[in-house]
Amino acid sequence: MSSDNLACPSTSDLRTQPVAALDKEGIGPAMMSIPMIACSTSLSEHHSGGSGTNKNKQMVEQLQRYGVISSKKVVEVMETIDRALFVPDGTPAYVDSPMAIGYNATISAPHMHATCLQLLEENLQPGMHALDVGSGTGYLTACFATMVGPQGRAIGVEHIPELVASSIKNIEKSAAASLLKGGSLSVHAGDGREGWPEHAPYDAIHVGAAAAEIPQPLIDQLKPGGRMVIPVGKIFQDLQVVDKNLDGSVSIRNETAVRYVPLTSRDAQLKGY
Ligand code: SAH
Repeated sequence: MSSDNLACPSTSDLRTQPVAALDKEGIGPAMMSIPMIACSTSLSEHHSGGSGTNKNKQMVEQLQRYGVISSKKVVEVMETIDRALFVPDGTPAYVDSPMAIGYNATISAPHMHATCLQLLEENLQPGMHALDVGSGTGYLTACFATMVGPQGRAIGVEHIPELVASSIKNIEKSAAASLLKGGSLSVHAGDGREGWPEHAPYDAIHVGAAAAEIPQPLIDQLKPGGRMVIPVGKIFQDLQVVDKNLDGSVSIRNETAVRYVPLTSRDAQLKGY
């Protein structure tokens, strides 16, 4: 019952990936098998935006059809930011599976991106501040920036400098390029366990790697009324939703079982954990 953010199945396995969706009672993930769009993207699709854009739209429609996405805003942003611009060349972009991006890291599966965007939607309104810890390819940072707009602020923090550099190139090709240029979106090299104090407090914090425990600086940098979505645990992990109440107290609930790469030191990650 876990949505696997870690393993990369072979292309032949990708047509019916299990997808975690929330059950009606909100007590755990319901599994369903989605016939996904198993299509690889060519370099020309990366640049033309033609058929690639259509396939991106089809991917979002599939996620809606199978109940993973119900929010109009999440549909809009996932249609705006083409996933193909963020996966390594030759990687099937629209398959509902995590994909290797090098450095023992992965881009999360589309259903996990959708789930996290939806959990954070209320805290990603125009003008708000968002922090994406373990920003990897920059896909979610670009989505956050698009949602909070030019008056808001979206910060990505990633500890592999090469991924920071490639994520900036990815964003420059995407619909979020103008936000990067305008300065409301930025990606930084650093240890995300420390957060990014410069633009705190944040309305929304997303952590894209699993922490053994929630890092205190991230709780400190959450605004009262703010929400953090973070996978917590070692082998068995829960996607936790951390709400900071207006009195500064914190409420935590488990959303679903997940499997992410660890939130760790750069050395441990490069050694293979
Ligand atoms: N949301 C990203 C997920 C990438 S995988 C995406 O979908 O593209 C998790 C990322 O967390 C990896 O890129 C990894 O390098 C990064 N990471 C792990 N520990 C970290 C830390 N302590 N500080 C910053 N980034 C970290």
